Amino acid sequence: DRLGVALVGLGYYSTDLLAPALQQTKNCYLAGIVTGTPSKAEEWKKKYNIPDKNIYNYQTFDQIANNPDIDVVYVVLPPSMHCEYTVRAANAGKHVWCEKPMAMTEQECREMIAACSKNKKKLAIGYRLQHEPNTQEYMRIVNQKLLGKVEQASCGAGYRESRTNHWKQTKELGGGALYDMGVYSIQGARLGTGLEPIAIASAKISTTRPEIYTDIDETTVAKLEFPGGVVADIKTSFGENINYLNIACEKGEIKMEPFQSYAGVKGSSPLGEINHPYQVPWQQAKQVDDDAMAIMQNKPMLVPGEEGLRDIQIVEAIYKAAESGQRVKL
Ligand code: NAD
Repeated sequence: DRLGVALVGLGYYSTDLLAPALQQTKNCYLAGIVTGTPSKAEEWKKKYNIPDKNIYNYQTFDQIANNPDIDVVYVVLPPSMHCEYTVRAANAGKHVWCEKPMAMTEQECREMIAACSKNKKKLAIGYRLQHEPNTQEYMRIVNQKLLGKVEQASCGAGYRESRTNHWKQTKELGGGALYDMGVYSIQGARLGTGLEPIAIASAKISTTRPEIYTDIDETTVAKLEFPGGVVADIKTSFGENINYLNIACEKGEIKMEPFQSYAGVKGSSPLGEINHPYQVPWQQAKQVDDDAMAIMQNKPMLVPGEEGLRDIQIVEAIYKAAESGQRVKL
């Protein structure tokens, strides 16, 4: 059987990636939508054959509790809204998939985890790369120590953001490069070392467009400390296109570039090429099919709320280190 998924927030990612992916899936399908824009409801209803009874707006959303067609609510809103909609979905008795970054604060992440746990519902964060074969391959090399121990890593994730008046430039909505793209660099550092950071040694924020990036970061760099003297340098930016992960191990280096695209993720190590190809939006289809299967089998989510929480703790610590100029322990 297949799980019915309702997308909440029909912006770029839902429109261009998730809805098309949900046409390719075996274990779940696009059953419903939640939107504040009536014209989008009309368009999506036609395009994806969605019955009126499965279409909600932000006011009627909680009535989704009475809809047996919807098993999973997928929150694809600006980050400041992730907590509220995850909690409301869990309280409506639905499993929740929530986009990255999980939320704005550690406190919000904990509320989301608690709401899902209280309602005995699963919570997964939309870190598509953890479902991706090239990412899984570098993780396997690291975790099985096929090149010996990891000594250091560096990771950069960013792109030139040309919009100037989007939620990505609005602090209260969850803007800032570190929340948006920095979580990929943090994931790269954590997955690439196979370790959890113990401190932020240093962090620095800079901007080339101070008129746009007034109270949020355009570019952030940080040095993460891991147990055993392992360090990772991470960078994230709305000012430049960067997309790399280098993992220096005792017996050679793993280099992934790009390490976080929708397709074309590839790299190499002394063990050979890392290059399993696929087309957009296979990655998103794989992610939701994996998560739907795990729900049907009552297994743990590959990327549970705790994983999103960990990154938000690190994001908050990096901002604190940048502001104070001090080392911040995790
Ligand atoms: P977007 O701006 O294109 O879409 C956001 C949607 O939220 C819009 O439909 C908008 O109408 C709606 N919305 C409701 N209330 C809003 C408000 N107060 N302010 C602004 N928008 C409001 O954004 P997006 O790029 O689709 O991103 C949505 C989420 O998906 C974010 O969490 C983002 O980080 C995530 N995302 C993830 C990936 C990935 O690869 N996993 C890629 C892109 C985006």
